[in-house]
This record gives sequence, structure tokens and C-alpha cells, in this order.
Amino acid sequence: MLSNIRIVLVQTFHPGNIGATARAMKTMGLTNLVLVNPRQFPDDEATRLAAGAADVLDSAQVVNQLDEAVSDCVQVIGASARLRSLPLPHFEEPDDMAQAVIQNAQHGPVALVFGRERSGLTNDEIRCCTHQVSIPANPDYGILNLSQAVQILAYEVHRAWRRRDDSHYVYQQATETTPPSREQVIYFQEHLGRLMQQSGFITQPHARTEEQLQALFTRAQPSRKELSLLRGLLSAFESHLPDR
Ligand code: SAH
Repeated sequence: MLSNIRIVLVQTFHPGNIGATARAMKTMGLTNLVLVNPRQFPDDEATRLAAGAADVLDSAQVVNQLDEAVSDCVQVIGASARLRSLPLPHFEEPDDMAQAVIQNAQHGPVALVFGRERSGLTNDEIRCCTHQVSIPANPDYGILNLSQAVQILAYEVHRAWRRRDDSHYVYQQATETTPPSREQVIYFQEHLGRLMQQSGFITQPHARTEEQLQALFTRAQPSRKELSLLRGLLSAFESHLPDR
């Protein structure tokens, strides 16, 4: 579904912004970049700012006019900091836009269109769009850098996609996160309690100390592997206790 989402940059002036856009896209799982009449592309500065996303630049398409970039799209959303006089449906919150984008991307390509650094999108270009979106920001200074505007909208699209049941999205997790079973936790607590008594660390039954330490281990939420390490440690201590 994310492969149906296209980022379109119109007449970008700074090649660095094209590179930073590629990077912003790739971090959010987007790879489809179309450049409308860029001032300078390909370019070393673009490649430098793309960092690990040079592949997105390599596969970028360059066209002359915005309509060539969006004519096959089922939805075209123009990103603009300012409300224009054109009465296009307007998303005032990027997350509302993202939900619509994810819905529509099931049926065909969807484009998010970004304007020039200096002058944004022309009225003619806005006419190529079906919707507009703006990123709410400081009313006194609400215009973002081009690639940062791409990052925010790409993040929202990725977030809306992640939240769908069928995205099967799995965040990179630490390799060993299997939680222990209740039984393993209880064995650990008993082992700890026994050792506290046997070592003379606590002398009275029902001492609060035992509860406090157990609360500490519960809060730490050790994984199965970590809990077995802790039990190994307890056993090692235990083997050094003097025979009674
Ligand atoms: N001076 C231009 C701003 C250009 S910033 C203007 O007034 O339109 C370059 C592009 O970044 C914009 O065309 C738009 O696509 C995007 N952008 C920047 N800030 C934005 C915001 N707050 N909301 C939506 N898009 C924004």
C-alpha cells in the first residue's frame, strides 16, 4: 500500500532539499519520488543529504509538468502553509489527511505535492489537486523547510498505515523480549526469598524488605532470558553459603 503513495516536489531550488526529502521518505517506508522540473538534479549535494536513501533518488522520476506526475492518481493532495482562495476540500490536520490517503491508496496511486521553497504552489498547480493539507504551526512563523514538511506528512501516513490491522507492522524489537511465565516469576521470587533468609539478609519473617525487592524486580519487567540469568546468579550465591 505504501508503494502507491507518491511524493511530488515541484521545481525544487535546492538539491539538498531533494536529498533530505528522499531520506525523510525512506525512514517512513515511502520510495516513490517524482520531481517536476527541478533546478538541478542529479546532484552531489542531493546524494549527500539523502545518506542511506540514495536508492530513492536513483529511482526518482523527473517530469516537466505537474499534471504528468499526477494524472494516474486517484487522489492528489497539495501541501500548503496558506489557505488559498480555491475552494478545495482542505485537511486542517495531517492525521485526517493520512487516514484518507491510506484508504485511497488501496485503489490506486495517491500523490502528496509540495511546492517551491520560495513561492510554494501556483494556483494552476493547486487546480491539479483534489485536496489541500496544511501542517498547523506557529501562526507567526508557520512555514517549514520543504523536506521537513515532507517528513511530517510522511510520518502521519506511515502512522495511519501502521495502525491498520492488515499492515502487519512490527517495530524492530530487542532480540530477546519473550516475557517469563507467571510460574517462572514465582520460582524466581521464591528463590530470592529463600536466599534472603538463608544468607541472613533478612532475619524476621514477613519483613517489608522482601516485598520491596520483589516489587523492584516486577517493575523492571525482566525478559525470560534475563530472569534465568538472575536465577543463575542466585544459585551461584547460594552455593557459597556456609552449610548450616
Ligand atoms: N513561501 C511558500 C512556502 C514554501 S515552503 C508559500 O508561501 O507557500 C515549501 C513547501 O513546503 C510548500 O510549498 C509546502 O508544500 C510545504 N510546506 C511548508 N510549510 C508547510 C505547512 N505549514 N503546511 C503544509 N505544507 C507546508
